[in-house]
Amino acid sequence: LPERQAKPKWLRVKLPTGKKYTELRTLVDKYSLNTICTSGSCPNMGECWGEGTATFMILGNVCTRSCGFCGVKTGRPETVDWDEPEKVARSIKLMQIKHAVLTSVDRDDLKDMGSIMWAETVQSVRRMNPDTTLETLIPDFQGIEQHIDRIIAVAPEVVSHNIETVRRLTREVRIQAKYDRSLGVLKYLKSQGQRRTKSGIMLGLGEKREEVIETLHDLRAHDVDVVTIGQYLQPSKKHLPVQSFVTPDQFEEYREIGLDLGFRHVESSALVRSSYKAQKHIN
Ligand code: SF4
Ligand code: SF4
Repeated sequence: LPERQAKPKWLRVKLPTGKKYTELRTLVDKYSLNTICTSGSCPNMGECWGEGTATFMILGNVCTRSCGFCGVKTGRPETVDWDEPEKVARSIKLMQIKHAVLTSVDRDDLKDMGSIMWAETVQSVRRMNPDTTLETLIPDFQGIEQHIDRIIAVAPEVVSHNIETVRRLTREVRIQAKYDRSLGVLKYLKSQGQRRTKSGIMLGLGEKREEVIETLHDLRAHDVDVVTIGQYLQPSKKHLPVQSFVTPDQFEEYREIGLDLGFRHVESSALVRSSYKAQKHIN
């Protein structure tokens, strides 16, 4: 694609609106709350916030990994802020969030890879917001079961881990990760009794149709319940270029294939992000 090619019309979004959105926006700005929705300027804010869903990032804003698609800064991460669980719990309360998605940078620098902070955060959110349901979108914890167990122990309604791309492109797209290791994490969660598991793929990085279908098969074969499929957009010129804009018809075909494979939910369209419509994935 030539650089700066205009986005196809299905990717042009209206600015978020709605009473609930405006209220939340005011709160977020006033208290400097840290949501991924605002920091990533997600196109779905009007919709998600209107339904009481938002995504919060823990363990700081600097990641030890450097995935080619990701806008998060790479480097030496900040020291762990043990007040973070409390802060996130308070933000969720202030925003009256009904379904919260928690995610984090990868902390390969920490002995527990951040898993203790993860567990503390879930518990803190539960204490302050007993009616809020939770999805934890976790890193791979390098596949170490002891760390994954800490997540399962605090019982979030949904645990997700994104495979992000097809097998062939994994090295290029997320250099420090492994396709099979991610599948292993998903399978392990389910084997330990996690009720709902979920994963996500971005399209437009050069994958072929057959490879997307293969990935859907692989996820189902590892007992994943929910899959999200969306269009990759380049966060900056330094990131991997967009190789193609996938058409709405193609997204629809993947949705149908996914449902035929037996996923409980398949969200597949250009603007889908992994936490889009997250509330309905509890069921
Ligand atoms: Fe926030 Fe995720 Fe919804 Fe975007 S899709 S607004 S990041 S909850
Ligand atoms: Fe971004 Fe996650 Fe990769 Fe870190 S591990 S660079 S936060 S996608």
